[in-house]
Amino acid sequence: MMQQNDIYDVTIIGGGPVGLFTAFYSGMREMKTKIIEYLPYLGGKVSYFYPEKIIRDIGGIPQLSGEELTTNLIEQAKTFDPTIVLEEQVMDWQKHEDGYFILTSDNGVKHYTKTVILATGFGSLKPVMLDLPHSKEFVGQSLHYSIHNIDRFKGKHVLISGGGNSAVDWANELEPIAKKVTLIYRKSSFKGIESNVTKMKRSSVQVLTPYELAGLRGKGGQLSSAIIENTEQAAFEEVEIDELLVNHGFHIDLGPITKWGMDITEAGIVVNSSMSTSIPGIFAVGDIAQYKNKLPLIAGGFNEGPIAVNSAKLYIHPKDPLTHLYSTHYEPLTKDS
Ligand SMILES: Cc1cc2nc3c(=O)[nH]c(=O)nc-3n(C[C@H](O)[C@H](O)[C@H](O)COP(=O)(O)OP(=O)(O)OC[C@H]3O[C@@H](n4cnc5c(N)ncnc54)[C@H](O)[C@@H]3O)c2cc1C
Repeated sequence: MMQQNDIYDVTIIGGGPVGLFTAFYSGMREMKTKIIEYLPYLGGKVSYFYPEKIIRDIGGIPQLSGEELTTNLIEQAKTFDPTIVLEEQVMDWQKHEDGYFILTSDNGVKHYTKTVILATGFGSLKPVMLDLPHSKEFVGQSLHYSIHNIDRFKGKHVLISGGGNSAVDWANELEPIAKKVTLIYRKSSFKGIESNVTKMKRSSVQVLTPYELAGLRGKGGQLSSAIIENTEQAAFEEVEIDELLVNHGFHIDLGPITKWGMDITEAGIVVNSSMSTSIPGIFAVGDIAQYKNKLPLIAGGFNEGPIAVNSAKLYIHPKDPLTHLYSTHYEPLTKDS
């Protein structure tokens, strides 16, 4: 039998960077908080795709690795002791006649909550894979879609395929440690952020455009060369390589929440300036939240989380105006106090 104290004030679905910071802020507002994460670990895309990449676009933190950011966020999220549930995918919701939500996970477990904050990112974390003969036999050995151990690229010739932020970022990160970095891109102008593209072009990275991967050679999982095509001239060449990094983007598959009945676009869930979705009591933050001029950046999500939490608190206590704003008002309780 469900008890009143089984009902949480806020359940955050998704334990990525934005969900984690949202949980911290929710604790600050003394909301009974639960995080439900599909993966067996926290950290979302940062842990999954780029624990070793250096992040440089969070205010006040000139640089830190993805892993350091995740460690810090987990520590911060645990300040107010939220309940953390791992390895459950939330599939469905219903509303009880008493007004609270009942969330059902893929394993049938039910979670009871007065409000829901969706921090589910782009749903699935699946990179666009290479569609070349034999490419699968190199995956995880010398063909990578993400980097979990940057040291393995030391002294190697690394070929990067892609022209977005990730590809350009990795070219700059690997250039000082690899023997050589070659980057090929199918277009002539880059999508990556300007200063990073400039840095790459001024470095020793060999940049080839418009080029595409046309074939791979090697054996036993180890690549020995790649066939690349200059698509303007329809000319092929073979380059010797040790490692191949493919950054061709990600599939957006928002998963079960697409059937929840909220206003939704291909890129995510439509929210208003309170981070409310079209279903009262359900809010969205981070990559999944869509509004005009949205930037899918971690720092932006760190503002959306507190907005959603404050909106959730107001939803539960409509007569309780927002008076608390700054974390500096929080003094951790000591044993003597
Ligand atoms: C290679 C790469 C490099 C990047 N570099 C930077 C950078 O330098 N700076 C920057 O600001 N941003 C960067 N980004 C973007 C940044 O990672 C995202 O903006 C950020 O991760 C969004 O956080 P989030 O918490 O909204 O979502 P996510 O990190 O995607 O986390 C969402 C979590 O929700 C879980 N989930 C989804 N559906 C469910 C469900 N139904 N039930 C339970 N759990 C669910 C997922 O498993 C996932 O763990 C980069 C992205 C990539 C891919």
